[in-house]
Amino acid sequence: MCKKGMVINMGKTINVTFWNEFRHEKINDAVKALYPDGIHAYVKSFLETNDDIKVTLASLDDPDQGLPDEVLNNTDVLLWWGHMHHGEVDDALVERIRQRVYVNGMGFVPLHSAHHSKPFKAIIGTTGNLCWGAEVKEFIWNIMPSHPIAAGVPDHFELETEEIYAEPFQIPAPDEFIFNGWYASGHVFRSGCCWRRGAGKIFYFQPGHETCPSFHNPIVQRIITNAVYWAAPADMGFNYDAGCPYVNPIV
Ligand code: ZN
Repeated sequence: MCKKGMVINMGKTINVTFWNEFRHEKINDAVKALYPDGIHAYVKSFLETNDDIKVTLASLDDPDQGLPDEVLNNTDVLLWWGHMHHGEVDDALVERIRQRVYVNGMGFVPLHSAHHSKPFKAIIGTTGNLCWGAEVKEFIWNIMPSHPIAAGVPDHFELETEEIYAEPFQIPAPDEFIFNGWYASGHVFRSGCCWRRGAGKIFYFQPGHETCPSFHNPIVQRIITNAVYWAAPADMGFNYDAGCPYVNPIV
């Protein structure tokens, strides 16, 4: 539990919030079949097999778009999945999210089509644009096996079907580039990228198209779990709940 005045260390409970647009699952039978309670609830089910991870679910149609202060301000790592309704996310909420990453060190893990979400674009400073296409077989190559997010991940793994996301991905060069996607179509994509912004850490991960079963893949689950541990605010030697000392000095 992240209590005011306490510095988070690994081994403490990590408070994760999974924000899901949560509209496809209500209207598309193929998506509902894969994720009957929503992508967010499915990801929660495997994350919470770890005793030190607690997941709160949030969605666009919830009051305060799922992220009132009492939720956001108790979130150590925010996972985000959105697709068709990015534009409905309130700009003031986006700024609160960005501040919590930059100033308070909240981790941010945008998944798949969250490359076009307002928080990703605001936090990273990018259009988030990329090329996309049909659903084909994908190989994901582990190109930085020493990275904590690559722990337990083989040199490569296959996803039987994923939506093609292709370069050029209009992102600033990642601070760490961990997974490289290759599709049966020949396209390539920077599928797993890390950035650091202010006090916070960000990991973008490409798999997770709503009609593909990627979140059921055990290696994808391992990567998302690793990302939560990596992105959680570490013991940074100051009270991050009071704000980053470089931005908001503690007096
Ligand atoms: Zn998609």
